[in-house]
Amino acid sequence: MRGPAVVVVGGGLAGIAAAVRLADRGARVTLVEARPHLGGATYSFPRGGLLADTGQHVFLRCYESYRDLLDRMGVSALAPIQERFEIPVLYAGGRQARLRRGRRGPAPLHLAGALAGYRPLGLSHRLRAGTAALALRSVDPDDPVSDRTTFGAWLRAQGQSDRAVERLWGLITVAALNLPPDQASLALAARVFRTALLERPDAADIGIPGVPLRELHAEPAARLLARLGVRVHTKAKVLSIEPTEQVEQAEPSGGSGPAGPGFVLHTRTGELTADAVVVAVPHQAATQLVPATAAPDRDRWAGLGSSPIVNVHVVYDRPVTDLPYAAGLDTPVQWIFDRTRAASVEHGQYLVVSISAADGLADRPADEIRHAYAGALATLFPKARQARLLQSFVTREPHATFRQVPGTAALRPPARTRLPGLALAGAWTGTGWPDTMEGAVRSGLLAADAIDIDSFTRVSRPIEEATP
Ligand SMILES: Cc1cc2nc3c(=O)[nH]c(=O)nc-3n(C[C@H](O)[C@H](O)[C@H](O)COP(=O)(O)OP(=O)(O)OC[C@H]3O[C@@H](n4cnc5c(N)ncnc54)[C@H](O)[C@@H]3O)c2cc1C
Repeated sequence: MRGPAVVVVGGGLAGIAAAVRLADRGARVTLVEARPHLGGATYSFPRGGLLADTGQHVFLRCYESYRDLLDRMGVSALAPIQERFEIPVLYAGGRQARLRRGRRGPAPLHLAGALAGYRPLGLSHRLRAGTAALALRSVDPDDPVSDRTTFGAWLRAQGQSDRAVERLWGLITVAALNLPPDQASLALAARVFRTALLERPDAADIGIPGVPLRELHAEPAARLLARLGVRVHTKAKVLSIEPTEQVEQAEPSGGSGPAGPGFVLHTRTGELTADAVVVAVPHQAATQLVPATAAPDRDRWAGLGSSPIVNVHVVYDRPVTDLPYAAGLDTPVQWIFDRTRAASVEHGQYLVVSISAADGLADRPADEIRHAYAGALATLFPKARQARLLQSFVTREPHATFRQVPGTAALRPPARTRLPGLALAGAWTGTGWPDTMEGAVRSGLLAADAIDIDSFTRVSRPIEEATP
């Protein structure tokens, strides 16, 4: 018995996860991606002899669906997770602190150790931070009320000072939600802090790709999808999706009835037909592609907006720091990662500075950004003052994530649409998770499960396609 023909539009992590799950469930899957490669926002490109990522990515031990996908692709060992949560923090006057969980003790006691040693914040602020962390346990991320206010407003109501909001809570919030606490939704912040820091002691341990993202996601995904019999068409942008006539659906009684419409997808070079479609593209593209009959409220998705991330890449002729990664305070260097080994750079040191919530920076001239960050790095790392800069360039992602402000929970659609057979995926959809790799993979699984495969198993249309 041949399974139904399902087309997945978009080859980011959401589309890849959806295609794998659908193939596992017996569908005949075709994945169609506009770019020449899979991986979506997580990709790498060659530049001056190295393979650079479009943006530095990290993940946490609690990213369970994402890690399952890495396992399935056979690449978990290429993205090791630290033994225990630890962030070196560089701050004023060349000082260094560590935010590190205790080795023993159940959650949330493990946080006590982390806060105890966090010197960028005075003792009284740290004690109050502990109280606020405990109070977060009573914030329900799924309660619409939690999405009506900012995390910053909630923190202040818990007695957190501006200094604590900026130097402790902000350090994590900006990285996790791509917005500072005073703009980020309390609901999404509660999801991050509760899941990562309050429920299991090891949940926030950080994983960092040890190879370029192309080798971690795009290439292994292409191999896995090929093994599963999924057809992948790259450089094939879908221009429109049209529901067609009703197709026959198998009924439990053995008779047949309507399963909903079939679909025709138009690309610049041809057409595909399908029994069902998963649309796994960013919200800006989904608004154009998803038929109004499937989502009459699709114009509201524009309200999700976007928040930029900028990365500054620098290659020195010699090592300037021993730190594999660090966060910065009192410096424009928010986070820094040593990518020398990951990018197989043989001489010198390749560092990437990652700047989230980069409004105001993303549209500055590249030379200005490079110059400013070369100066900031020289202040942080004295050895950089003597080192020669062999290469430096800037990558910008103006739409890195949706803008995770209060009010967005109501704008994020569920996987299931009003058209049976058309489901939505993407880190921006209503997973309850922030716009992250975990959110993307979860959304793909939800969308795949929203397609009622069994209703098509008796009667399915052959997939017809012109060469894309
Ligand atoms: C610079 C940067 C840093 C980040 N850092 C982190 C991090 O550290 N940790 C973390 O968890 N997350 C991070 N994220 C977020 C994470 O990358 C995203 O949440 C996730 O990759 C989104 O996956 P997706 O599949 O939903 O969307 P995308 O990756 O955007 O994939 C959508 C795909 O659809 C394709 N497409 C669009 N229109 C069409 C069309 N008409 N036809 C066919 N294909 C189409 C696109 O080309 C794209 O490949 C970061 C993002 C950026 C940009």
